[in-house]
Amino acid sequence: MLRVDNISFSYSKIAVLEDISFSIAQGKNLAVIGESGSGKSTLLKLIYGEFDVDKGHILWKDTEILGPKFNLVVGYDFMKQVTQEFDLMPVTSVENNIGKFLSRFYLKNRQKRIDELIKVVELEDFAKTKVKYLSGGQKQRVALARALAKKPEMLLLDEPFSHIDNFKKQSLRRNVFNYLKKEKITCVVATHDKDDVLGFADEMLVLYNKNIISRGSPNELYKNPKIPFVASFFGEFNVINGEIYYAHQLKIVETSNLKGVVKTSYFNGASWLLEVDYSSQLIFIEHKEHLENGEVVSFKIS
Ligand code: ADP
Ligand code: MG
Repeated sequence: MLRVDNISFSYSKIAVLEDISFSIAQGKNLAVIGESGSGKSTLLKLIYGEFDVDKGHILWKDTEILGPKFNLVVGYDFMKQVTQEFDLMPVTSVENNIGKFLSRFYLKNRQKRIDELIKVVELEDFAKTKVKYLSGGQKQRVALARALAKKPEMLLLDEPFSHIDNFKKQSLRRNVFNYLKKEKITCVVATHDKDDVLGFADEMLVLYNKNIISRGSPNELYKNPKIPFVASFFGEFNVINGEIYYAHQLKIVETSNLKGVVKTSYFNGASWLLEVDYSSQLIFIEHKEHLENGEVVSFKIS
Protein backbone atom coordinates (compact mmCIF):
# COMPACT_ATOMS: atom_id res chain seq x y z
CA MET A 1 0.00 0.00 0.00
CA LEU A 2 0.90 3.66 -0.35
CA ARG A 3 1.56 5.65 2.79
CA VAL A 4 2.10 9.39 2.82
CA ASP A 5 3.26 10.37 6.24
CA ASN A 6 3.17 13.99 7.31
CA ILE A 7 4.87 15.51 4.28
CA SER A 8 5.47 19.17 3.59
CA PHE A 9 6.83 20.74 0.45
CA SER A 10 7.66 24.13 -0.99
CA TYR A 11 9.17 25.04 -4.37
CA SER A 12 11.12 28.00 -3.06
CA LYS A 13 9.97 29.93 -0.04
CA ILE A 14 6.25 29.46 -0.58
CA ALA A 15 4.75 26.34 0.95
CA VAL A 16 2.55 24.30 -1.39
CA LEU A 17 1.69 21.36 0.88
CA GLU A 18 1.82 21.19 4.66
CA ASP A 19 1.58 18.12 6.89
CA ILE A 20 -0.17 15.90 4.39
CA SER A 21 -0.92 12.36 5.57
CA PHE A 22 -3.02 9.60 4.03
CA SER A 23 -2.75 6.04 2.87
CA ILE A 24 -4.41 3.82 0.31
CA ALA A 25 -4.63 0.08 0.06
CA GLN A 26 -3.37 -1.83 -2.95
CA GLY A 27 -5.73 -1.88 -5.92
CA LYS A 28 -7.74 1.10 -4.73
CA ASN A 29 -8.47 4.24 -6.66
CA LEU A 30 -7.85 7.51 -4.83
CA ALA A 31 -8.95 10.83 -6.30
CA VAL A 32 -7.13 14.00 -5.28
CA ILE A 33 -9.24 17.02 -6.01
CA GLY A 34 -8.74 20.73 -5.55
CA GLU A 35 -8.69 23.99 -7.44
CA SER A 36 -6.08 24.82 -10.00
CA GLY A 37 -2.89 25.63 -8.09
CA SER A 38 -3.89 23.71 -4.96
CA GLY A 39 -0.94 21.35 -5.32
CA LYS A 40 -2.45 18.23 -6.93
CA SER A 41 0.31 17.86 -9.53
CA THR A 42 2.94 18.62 -6.92
CA LEU A 43 1.59 15.88 -4.66
CA LEU A 44 1.69 13.36 -7.51
CA LYS A 45 5.23 14.36 -8.42
CA LEU A 46 6.31 13.93 -4.81
CA ILE A 47 4.79 10.46 -4.73
CA TYR A 48 6.67 9.67 -7.93
CA GLY A 49 9.93 10.87 -6.40
CA GLU A 50 10.42 13.78 -8.75
CA PHE A 51 11.08 16.23 -5.91
CA ASP A 52 12.47 15.86 -2.41
CA VAL A 53 9.99 16.38 0.40
CA ASP A 54 10.97 19.02 2.96
CA LYS A 55 9.59 16.86 5.72
CA GLY A 56 7.90 13.50 6.20
CA HIS A 57 8.00 10.19 4.35
CA ILE A 58 6.34 8.47 1.42
CA LEU A 59 6.27 4.69 1.33
CA TRP A 60 5.09 2.12 -1.17
CA LYS A 61 4.92 -1.12 0.79
CA ASP A 62 8.38 -1.22 2.45
CA THR A 63 10.13 1.02 -0.04
CA GLU A 64 10.65 4.65 0.89
CA ILE A 65 10.16 6.88 -2.14
CA LEU A 66 13.20 9.10 -2.45
CA GLY A 67 13.58 12.28 -4.45
CA PRO A 68 16.46 13.24 -6.75
CA LYS A 69 18.75 14.16 -3.85
CA PHE A 70 18.85 10.55 -2.71
CA ASN A 71 17.93 8.65 -5.85
CA LEU A 72 20.17 8.86 -8.91
CA VAL A 73 17.49 7.88 -11.42
CA VAL A 74 14.13 9.47 -10.69
CA GLY A 75 11.24 7.04 -10.40
CA TYR A 76 10.72 3.39 -9.54
CA ASP A 77 9.93 0.34 -11.65
CA PHE A 78 6.70 -0.44 -9.83
CA MET A 79 5.21 2.99 -10.45
CA LYS A 80 4.32 4.99 -13.53
CA GLN A 81 2.91 8.46 -13.93
CA VAL A 82 1.07 10.27 -16.68
CA THR A 83 1.82 13.93 -16.23
CA GLN A 84 0.09 16.89 -17.78
CA GLU A 85 3.05 17.19 -20.17
CA PHE A 86 2.81 13.64 -21.70
CA ASP A 87 6.50 13.47 -22.65
CA LEU A 88 6.13 11.30 -25.78
CA MET A 89 8.50 10.66 -28.70
CA PRO A 90 6.97 12.81 -31.47
CA VAL A 91 8.48 11.24 -34.58
CA THR A 92 7.80 7.69 -33.42
CA SER A 93 4.59 5.79 -34.08
CA VAL A 94 1.85 5.32 -31.54
CA GLU A 95 2.64 1.63 -31.13
CA ASN A 96 6.35 2.22 -30.63
CA ASN A 97 5.67 4.90 -28.05
CA ILE A 98 3.48 2.47 -26.15
CA GLY A 99 6.08 -0.28 -26.49
CA LYS A 100 8.96 1.94 -25.41
CA PHE A 101 9.50 0.18 -22.11
CA LEU A 102 8.65 -3.31 -23.32
CA SER A 103 11.58 -5.57 -23.93
CA ARG A 104 12.44 -6.24 -27.55
CA PHE A 105 13.39 -9.85 -26.70
CA TYR A 106 9.77 -10.84 -26.57
CA LEU A 107 8.76 -9.62 -29.97
CA LYS A 108 5.57 -11.65 -30.20
CA ASN A 109 4.31 -10.77 -26.73
CA ARG A 110 5.37 -7.18 -27.19
CA GLN A 111 3.04 -6.72 -30.16
CA LYS A 112 0.22 -8.52 -28.36
CA ARG A 113 0.60 -6.27 -25.35
CA ILE A 114 0.69 -3.13 -27.51
CA ASP A 115 -2.46 -4.23 -29.35
CA GLU A 116 -4.23 -4.89 -26.06
CA LEU A 117 -3.39 -1.41 -24.77
CA ILE A 118 -4.24 0.33 -28.02
CA LYS A 119 -7.69 -1.18 -27.56
CA VAL A 120 -7.99 0.10 -23.97
CA VAL A 121 -7.35 3.66 -25.13
CA GLU A 122 -9.30 3.20 -28.38
CA LEU A 123 -6.52 4.16 -30.78
CA GLU A 124 -6.78 1.19 -33.16
CA ASP A 125 -6.86 3.42 -36.24
CA PHE A 126 -3.70 5.26 -35.27
CA ALA A 127 -1.28 2.47 -34.37
CA LYS A 128 1.18 3.34 -37.15
CA THR A 129 0.71 7.12 -36.98
CA LYS A 130 3.55 9.30 -35.76
CA VAL A 131 2.66 10.95 -32.48
CA LYS A 132 3.38 14.46 -33.80
CA TYR A 133 0.34 14.14 -36.09
CA LEU A 134 -2.04 13.41 -33.21
CA SER A 135 -4.37 15.79 -31.39
CA GLY A 136 -3.82 16.65 -27.72
CA GLY A 137 -6.44 14.14 -26.62
CA GLN A 138 -4.96 11.36 -28.74
CA LYS A 139 -1.51 12.07 -27.31
CA GLN A 140 -2.95 11.85 -23.83
CA ARG A 141 -4.32 8.42 -24.67
CA VAL A 142 -0.92 7.27 -25.95
CA ALA A 143 0.68 8.47 -22.70
CA LEU A 144 -1.90 6.48 -20.73
CA ALA A 145 -1.27 3.31 -22.71
CA ARG A 146 2.49 3.69 -22.39
CA ALA A 147 2.25 4.07 -18.62
CA LEU A 148 0.25 0.84 -18.45
CA ALA A 149 2.47 -1.15 -20.82
CA LYS A 150 4.71 -2.76 -18.21
CA LYS A 151 1.83 -3.17 -15.77
CA PRO A 152 2.86 -0.96 -12.85
CA GLU A 153 1.75 -1.73 -9.30
CA MET A 154 0.79 1.89 -8.93
CA LEU A 155 -0.25 4.51 -11.46
CA LEU A 156 -0.33 8.27 -10.95
CA LEU A 157 -2.68 10.09 -13.31
CA ASP A 158 -2.68 13.85 -13.55
CA GLU A 159 -5.96 15.04 -15.06
CA PRO A 160 -5.87 12.04 -17.39
CA PHE A 161 -8.88 12.93 -19.54
CA SER A 162 -8.57 16.70 -19.60
CA HIS A 163 -7.68 16.87 -23.32
CA ILE A 164 -10.16 14.28 -24.44
CA ASP A 165 -13.41 15.37 -26.03
CA ASN A 166 -16.80 14.45 -24.64
CA PHE A 167 -17.51 12.00 -27.46
CA LYS A 168 -14.72 9.74 -26.28
CA LYS A 169 -14.36 10.66 -22.64
CA GLN A 170 -17.10 8.51 -21.10
CA SER A 171 -16.14 5.22 -22.70
CA LEU A 172 -12.44 5.87 -22.27
CA ARG A 173 -12.85 6.55 -18.58
CA ARG A 174 -14.74 3.32 -18.09
CA ASN A 175 -12.16 1.38 -20.12
CA VAL A 176 -9.20 2.72 -18.24
CA PHE A 177 -10.60 2.60 -14.70
CA ASN A 178 -12.12 -0.85 -15.23
CA TYR A 179 -8.81 -2.06 -16.58
CA LEU A 180 -6.99 -0.74 -13.48
CA LYS A 181 -9.48 -2.42 -11.16
CA LYS A 182 -9.27 -5.69 -13.04
CA GLU A 183 -5.47 -5.64 -12.88
CA LYS A 184 -5.52 -4.46 -9.23
CA ILE A 185 -3.33 -1.47 -10.06
CA THR A 186 -3.38 1.14 -7.30
CA CYS A 187 -4.23 4.49 -8.78
CA VAL A 188 -3.99 8.09 -7.65
CA VAL A 189 -5.88 10.50 -9.92
CA ALA A 190 -5.55 14.26 -9.67
CA THR A 191 -8.58 15.95 -11.16
CA HIS A 192 -11.06 18.79 -10.95
CA ASP A 193 -13.66 16.88 -12.93
CA LYS A 194 -16.29 15.16 -10.82
CA ASP A 195 -16.94 12.64 -13.57
CA ASP A 196 -13.41 11.29 -13.08
CA VAL A 197 -14.32 10.60 -9.46
CA LEU A 198 -17.94 9.58 -9.09
CA GLY A 199 -18.39 5.96 -9.96
CA PHE A 200 -14.67 5.20 -9.99
CA ALA A 201 -12.83 6.45 -6.91
CA ASP A 202 -12.88 4.39 -3.72
CA GLU A 203 -11.82 7.41 -1.79
CA MET A 204 -11.26 11.08 -2.40
CA LEU A 205 -9.34 13.78 -0.65
CA VAL A 206 -9.79 17.48 -1.07
CA LEU A 207 -6.77 19.79 -1.10
CA TYR A 208 -7.32 23.33 0.04
CA ASN A 209 -4.94 25.90 1.41
CA LYS A 210 -2.02 23.40 1.55
CA ASN A 211 -3.98 20.87 3.58
CA ILE A 212 -6.43 18.04 3.18
CA ILE A 213 -9.69 19.66 4.25
CA SER A 214 -11.91 16.69 3.58
CA ARG A 215 -11.59 13.01 2.94
CA GLY A 216 -13.97 10.10 2.42
CA SER A 217 -15.72 8.04 -0.22
CA PRO A 218 -17.29 10.05 -3.06
CA ASN A 219 -20.67 9.02 -1.71
CA GLU A 220 -19.89 10.29 1.80
CA LEU A 221 -18.52 13.62 0.63
CA TYR A 222 -21.35 14.10 -1.83
CA LYS A 223 -24.04 13.41 0.76
CA ASN A 224 -22.36 15.35 3.49
CA PRO A 225 -20.06 17.96 1.95
CA LYS A 226 -19.79 19.86 5.28
CA ILE A 227 -18.38 22.96 3.59
CA PRO A 228 -19.48 24.81 0.44
CA PHE A 229 -16.10 24.28 -1.20
CA VAL A 230 -16.60 20.52 -1.26
CA ALA A 231 -20.19 20.87 -2.48
CA SER A 232 -19.05 23.11 -5.32
CA PHE A 233 -17.05 20.21 -6.72
CA PHE A 234 -20.22 18.20 -7.27
CA GLY A 235 -22.46 20.85 -8.77
CA GLU A 236 -24.68 23.86 -8.15
CA PHE A 237 -25.71 24.19 -4.54
CA ASN A 238 -27.29 26.64 -2.10
CA VAL A 239 -26.66 27.57 1.49
CA ILE A 240 -30.02 28.14 3.16
CA ASN A 241 -30.15 28.74 6.90
CA GLY A 242 -26.60 27.51 7.18
CA GLU A 243 -27.34 24.16 5.48
CA ILE A 244 -26.00 23.05 2.11
CA TYR A 245 -28.53 21.88 -0.49
CA TYR A 246 -27.80 20.84 -4.06
CA ALA A 247 -30.00 22.32 -6.79
CA HIS A 248 -31.87 19.01 -7.16
CA GLN A 249 -32.74 19.03 -3.45
CA LEU A 250 -34.98 22.04 -3.97
CA LYS A 251 -38.29 21.30 -5.66
CA ILE A 252 -40.79 23.59 -7.32
CA VAL A 253 -44.23 22.95 -5.76
CA GLU A 254 -47.75 24.39 -6.03
CA THR A 255 -47.71 26.17 -2.70
CA SER A 256 -45.13 26.74 -0.03
CA ASN A 257 -44.10 29.55 2.26
CA LEU A 258 -40.73 29.52 0.44
CA LYS A 259 -41.16 31.73 -2.62
CA GLY A 260 -38.89 33.30 -5.19
CA VAL A 261 -38.76 34.93 -8.61
CA VAL A 262 -37.20 33.16 -11.60
CA LYS A 263 -34.27 35.17 -12.98
CA THR A 264 -32.90 32.78 -15.61
CA SER A 265 -33.38 29.20 -16.81
CA TYR A 266 -30.35 27.28 -18.07
CA PHE A 267 -30.86 24.20 -20.21
CA ASN A 268 -29.02 21.25 -18.67
CA GLY A 269 -30.05 18.35 -20.86
CA ALA A 270 -32.24 16.20 -18.66
CA SER A 271 -33.50 19.24 -16.73
CA TRP A 272 -33.31 23.01 -16.41
CA LEU A 273 -31.34 24.90 -13.82
CA LEU A 274 -33.39 27.80 -12.54
CA GLU A 275 -31.69 30.79 -11.03
CA VAL A 276 -34.18 32.15 -8.52
CA ASP A 277 -34.18 35.30 -6.44
CA TYR A 278 -35.16 34.20 -2.95
CA SER A 279 -35.33 37.17 -0.53
CA SER A 280 -32.43 38.83 -2.40
CA GLN A 281 -30.36 35.64 -2.33
CA LEU A 282 -29.76 33.91 -5.67
CA ILE A 283 -30.48 30.22 -5.40
CA PHE A 284 -30.39 27.32 -7.87
CA ILE A 285 -33.26 24.91 -8.36
CA GLU A 286 -33.31 21.94 -10.70
CA HIS A 287 -36.59 21.65 -12.57
CA LYS A 288 -38.05 19.50 -15.35
CA GLU A 289 -39.26 22.43 -17.43
CA HIS A 290 -38.21 25.83 -18.58
CA LEU A 291 -39.92 28.69 -16.70
CA GLU A 292 -40.31 32.29 -17.81
CA ASN A 293 -38.17 34.97 -16.22
CA GLY A 294 -40.17 36.94 -13.67
CA GLU A 295 -42.41 34.00 -12.75
CA VAL A 296 -43.09 33.68 -9.03
CA VAL A 297 -42.44 30.13 -7.84
CA SER A 298 -42.92 28.21 -4.60
CA PHE A 299 -40.33 25.65 -3.63
CA LYS A 300 -39.62 23.21 -0.88
CA ILE A 301 -36.50 21.56 0.42
CA SER A 302 -36.62 17.81 -0.05
P1 ADP B 1 -2.48 21.93 -9.35
O1 ADP B 1 -1.94 20.72 -10.03
O2 ADP B 1 -3.45 21.61 -8.25
O3 ADP B 1 -3.04 22.92 -10.32
P2 ADP B 1 0.32 22.51 -8.83
O4 ADP B 1 0.83 21.40 -7.99
O5 ADP B 1 0.67 22.48 -10.29
O6 ADP B 1 -1.26 22.66 -8.61
O7 ADP B 1 0.85 23.89 -8.26
C1 ADP B 1 0.78 24.22 -6.89
C2 ADP B 1 1.48 25.56 -6.67
O8 ADP B 1 2.88 25.42 -6.90
C3 ADP B 1 1.01 26.66 -7.59
O9 ADP B 1 0.99 27.85 -6.87
C4 ADP B 1 2.07 26.69 -8.69
O10 ADP B 1 2.18 27.96 -9.23
C5 ADP B 1 3.32 26.30 -7.93
N1 ADP B 1 4.27 25.55 -8.78
C6 ADP B 1 3.99 24.44 -9.51
N2 ADP B 1 5.09 23.97 -10.13
C7 ADP B 1 6.10 24.80 -9.79
C8 ADP B 1 7.50 24.85 -10.12
N3 ADP B 1 8.07 23.94 -10.89
N4 ADP B 1 8.21 25.87 -9.56
C9 ADP B 1 7.65 26.79 -8.76
N5 ADP B 1 6.35 26.80 -8.42
C10 ADP B 1 5.57 25.82 -8.92
MG1 MG C 1 -2.02 20.16 -12.02
